[in-house]
Amino acid sequence: MFYARCIVLYGKDSIVTCPHKKYLQTIFKTMRKINFPTTITIFSAIIFLVSCSSLPDGEDFQTKDVTNFSSGVGEPDEDGFVWQAEQFADLKIVRYQVPGWDKLSDSQQALVYCLNMAGLSGRDMMYDQNNRYNLRIRRMLENIHDSFEGDKSTIGWDRFEIYLKRIWFSNGIHHHYSNKKHIPGFSADYFSYLLESTGVTCSDEIKTVMLDPTVQPKKVELDGDKGLVEGSSVNFYGPNVSTKEAKDYFESIKVEGDRSPVEYGLNSRLVKNAAGEIVEETYKIGGLYNDAIVEVVKWLKEALQFTENDKQAAAMRNLIAYYETGDLEKWSLYNINWVKDVDGDVDYINGFIEVYNDPLGYTGSYETVVEIKDFDASARMATLMENAQWFEDHMPFAPEHKKDEVVGITYNVVNVAGEAGDASPSTPIGVNLPNSNWIRQVHGSKSVSLGNIVGAYSKASGGGMLDEFSHDEVESLRVNAHGALAGKLHTAMHEVIGHASGKLEEGVATPKETIMEYSSTLEEGRADLVALYFLLDEKLIELGLMNTIEVGRAEYDSYIRNGLMTQIRRLDLGDIIEESHMRNRAWVSHWCYEKGLSAGVIRKYKREGKTYVDVVDYVALQGLFGDLLKEVQRIKSQGDYNAAKALVEGYGVQVDQELHAEVLERSKALGIAPYGGFINPWMEATRSEDGTIEKVTLSYPDNFTTQMKHYSSTFNFLPDVNSLN
Ligand SMILES: [Zn+2]
Repeated sequence: MFYARCIVLYGKDSIVTCPHKKYLQTIFKTMRKINFPTTITIFSAIIFLVSCSSLPDGEDFQTKDVTNFSSGVGEPDEDGFVWQAEQFADLKIVRYQVPGWDKLSDSQQALVYCLNMAGLSGRDMMYDQNNRYNLRIRRMLENIHDSFEGDKSTIGWDRFEIYLKRIWFSNGIHHHYSNKKHIPGFSADYFSYLLESTGVTCSDEIKTVMLDPTVQPKKVELDGDKGLVEGSSVNFYGPNVSTKEAKDYFESIKVEGDRSPVEYGLNSRLVKNAAGEIVEETYKIGGLYNDAIVEVVKWLKEALQFTENDKQAAAMRNLIAYYETGDLEKWSLYNINWVKDVDGDVDYINGFIEVYNDPLGYTGSYETVVEIKDFDASARMATLMENAQWFEDHMPFAPEHKKDEVVGITYNVVNVAGEAGDASPSTPIGVNLPNSNWIRQVHGSKSVSLGNIVGAYSKASGGGMLDEFSHDEVESLRVNAHGALAGKLHTAMHEVIGHASGKLEEGVATPKETIMEYSSTLEEGRADLVALYFLLDEKLIELGLMNTIEVGRAEYDSYIRNGLMTQIRRLDLGDIIEESHMRNRAWVSHWCYEKGLSAGVIRKYKREGKTYVDVVDYVALQGLFGDLLKEVQRIKSQGDYNAAKALVEGYGVQVDQELHAEVLERSKALGIAPYGGFINPWMEATRSEDGTIEKVTLSYPDNFTTQMKHYSSTFNFLPDVNSLN
């Protein structure tokens, strides 16, 4: 779960944004022209004659009013590159570039190409893992999209396209973040019309899954009372497997006392066989998802020719053997070798990795990220690593909570060259792997920030949110000038220094055991506080990490504005804050606001009915960050559950309803989608006569729909229904 833990999405205006926009076209006001094109009229007549039903009518058949409609395409930057490609529903589609691509040798580019093709080859596994109907639904909708020749200027067609694009975005019929099922904006009548006019068929079962909100309503159910497995729509368990049966099974295969356990259940689906026994359908060659895994392995084997060093090659051979056998010992070996491979300029993750889509936390979702080292940023990390002890010595912790010898957490910035599966189109901005605890302890881990992804987010976000919520022009100018570096430094400090710092008192158990449900938000807040505390320190200038303290001030402005106010636009009115990172940003900000109130450290005020937040005294705020950091470290070091609970529940969970309504309204007016995802670069290889890759060219597609359909047709290896029993 470290991957999820360390996604540092703090304060990025582009990532935390406004309420669900739902369907743009539902807010048309006037001018609903009734304009049946000839084809529909003829078709209607046929329907009428054949079925004696009424003529198709209703909003879906009306022409979409395009006045005041924005597709969300961004303005080109100074180099002519358009970062934001489009926006729909609550989503925006962003493009990213791959800095450093040209610095790679031909062989390294070929390696990136093969790893990217391996990743994409497994794309459909993620759809099937998310829900067993996903491939059928997506392919049926893509067929309609390909073959429909009727009027595409209608409200209904627009809604149809948005529904399909949302499915592409989330690799299935459920929202990637809220887990709720996407409900199509178009009517059942319009859907019938599309089916009939294209000749595409759709079974009643599939129709029900698509259209009935009560069927498969939630991707992952985390409320035990509702049944974790029974209430989840993910496909890690056969439809008739119960939570108890699944838990009992995993318990039965666990080896007691194993000090180097494999990640049980990581690569399989649990089903009942004909005899009613629980069995694993393992993802492997010859097992579940064979046809896709064969392709993944084919590309990994070609990649093997271009590996940069022996460790990288050893890891890749383990990964291939794992896919060939399904043997989780080989997956462990892959991870051990992968952790040791730190010398190459190219790296990747590939496999069934994160388990948060499984309500029981066993089975990994397929994902791949192909990365190129970011040399400039890595130098920054190295500086922090070298000075980790200085930071530890200067922590505001009680002396007994400081480490005598601290080693910074290895952390690197990379630039993404391609992503697939669970990492695409919606992507993490940082990765910390492997997940196996004993491998982390014995062999270490690798942590990376996806630099070009973070950069693309902020390039695409534009200044809308900042202009609306910053309290004056000085703040806007400062954030515009220094915000990007401030964000990078915060992330680096959070990871390298923050998570590595501090120690537990003797005899105190791990935070997971002592602070329990608050351990995650407390640790994230602790790491944020370390970053914030030192961001105003001249030491960072001395180390050459920034050249003015204005960088730190910009981060203070952004962090407090986000934590006190703007991040709640991601929530629906009436919701409380639940996500760990959102919680920690809230409790850090609210605690500091309250403690600094009498001294006027942070000012909150209203101007023309709008609330603004103003950091008045940066040095005093740094002091408050330090006070809170000391206390949070004490809570962790002593395992003080009650104090953790009081802090989080008191400052990080509840939302001021009046402010929430205001923030929702103000951000809605800006029309910025709260969630972003990416169009990937495309690579093309030229091969010599004997088939060897000679040259790879990289381009940046700009159309999301085209890319998704291209992927679906090119990496189309799995059957509609995947099951061995
Ligand atoms: Zn973290």
